[in-house]
Amino acid sequence: RQLNPALATTATSFPTTHDKVAKVEDTPMFVDNEFRPSSTSQFIDLHDPATNNLVTRVPQMTAEEMTAAVDAAQRAFPGWRATSVMARQQIMFKFVALIRENWDRLAASITLEQGKTFPDAKGDVHRGLQVAEAACGAPELLKGELLEVARDMETRTYREPLGVVAAICPFNFPAMIPLWCIPIATITGNTLVLKPSERDPGAAMILAELVREAGFPAGVVNVIHGAHKTVDFILDEPRIRAVSFVGGNKAGEYIFSRGSANGKRVQANLGAKNHAAVLPDANKNHFLNSVVGAAFGAAGQRCMALSTLVMVGETKEWLPELASLAAGLQVNGGFEPGADLGPVISPHSKARIEDLIASAEKEGAKILLDGRGFKPEKYPDGNWVGPTIITDVTPDMRCYREEIFGPVLVCLNVATLDEAVELINRNEYGNGTAIFTRSGPTAETFRRNIEAGQVGVNVPIPVPLPMFSFTGNKASVAGGGANTFYGRPGINFYTQLKTVTALWQSADAISQKADVSMPTMH
Ligand code: NAD
Repeated sequence: RQLNPALATTATSFPTTHDKVAKVEDTPMFVDNEFRPSSTSQFIDLHDPATNNLVTRVPQMTAEEMTAAVDAAQRAFPGWRATSVMARQQIMFKFVALIRENWDRLAASITLEQGKTFPDAKGDVHRGLQVAEAACGAPELLKGELLEVARDMETRTYREPLGVVAAICPFNFPAMIPLWCIPIATITGNTLVLKPSERDPGAAMILAELVREAGFPAGVVNVIHGAHKTVDFILDEPRIRAVSFVGGNKAGEYIFSRGSANGKRVQANLGAKNHAAVLPDANKNHFLNSVVGAAFGAAGQRCMALSTLVMVGETKEWLPELASLAAGLQVNGGFEPGADLGPVISPHSKARIEDLIASAEKEGAKILLDGRGFKPEKYPDGNWVGPTIITDVTPDMRCYREEIFGPVLVCLNVATLDEAVELINRNEYGNGTAIFTRSGPTAETFRRNIEAGQVGVNVPIPVPLPMFSFTGNKASVAGGGANTFYGRPGINFYTQLKTVTALWQSADAISQKADVSMPTMH
């Protein structure tokens, strides 16, 4: 029985319009490689953000059902950890190939449930796919170390899996964030319980289907659903050894504290307010195109969106050109050809964004481009906010202090590079930043002095590829960012070291009497 509209499709047939879903099906859970309906009576309605038509209902799963998912993961663990890393790698190769085959289908599910445009949704899948591809090379990173520490004695390390681990995902990258977790958690020998966002779990459900098809044994990857109750279950379930979280600060700080207090490893990426500093010597066209793309793409709902522009010196004179470029963007249903940005995720989110724009007006800023009240003709019922540019902003204003997470660019003016650096460093967040300049020394000064974890030099969204790691800092991570996602640190997060010291007995190494002093091994 097909239980989910996303699953009722195949690699070559999937929704390509915002038309009403003919028959609304509930999203199932995925446990032991089976899709199962939940017996709950509590459901979260999921609406297409372009129309607010009902797409599916997402269950708030019962405690018994969630426990069954952890049971499955726990049962699968001994066999999976004993599966050779080469065999795990073969399954990962297959998984990568299947994601490629189902790329459009995954993207279509994202456009339908999350709202971003189809080409942008393909990028969402792509950035996750790259992590799965990099995970195929993980055996290299799993190698231990060995040293002959003394005569006939060697010490060696093994990277061992933790056991059952969990992932809690946000709504804004329905494929990429699950794919930050599934490949790295499993190639290292762990079994996983993943909770997608209750607002758009469709892509995660397709990934679950591909997990099964790729040959992952039953129970290695499980998908459970729900909101806070499911999160609390994960945080309090003693058999879950580690939690990966990506989302906002309120949830993330709570999850980090409660998960850590319960003795789990936690990696947690949180919110952001990413600044771009533009210098008068920048290539103007490159700057304008970069900022417009990075501020308004995905309707500003990216954790690395460039939402704050710091205009140094006379660059403020470029604002009219910036506004006319932004005004030219097409806001439309994500399946419509030529759409540049889609709707925001929910009516609540639209109201919050509009409220922040209104607050800027009240606090004395200028609305240079106002996206409030915009509606594309074909989709009058969606959650629309057009590109909005707020100028003459000062750091005390709400629109500067809060993460807006919508297609809104706030602009501040400073006189010098030093002032720009000081302003950016005063901001509590430290996810990403970018500088636009043609001067190497200017870029280098900025790089050295700036307190953000991911820096772009003439690159608007410097999200590191998976041979590196995602390295936000300050309030954009919980726990000081000790455990970053993917790359070598991602492998380290999902593994623990075992260190073995062995004495290989040669005649003169055998102890003749008990030595009660602290062994120093030399
Ligand atoms: P969110 O925090 O509302 O939700 C994330 C997850 O936490 C969801 O699965 C949700 O069910 C759960 N959750 C939400 N509130 C909770 C609570 N009070 N208690 C327990 N669980 C809770 O985030 P979102 O709106 O889905 O995503 C947008 C946010 O994610 C933005 O702040 C964005 O910057 C951030 N984000 C950060 C990164 C990064 O890598 N730094 C990447 C993507 C998104």
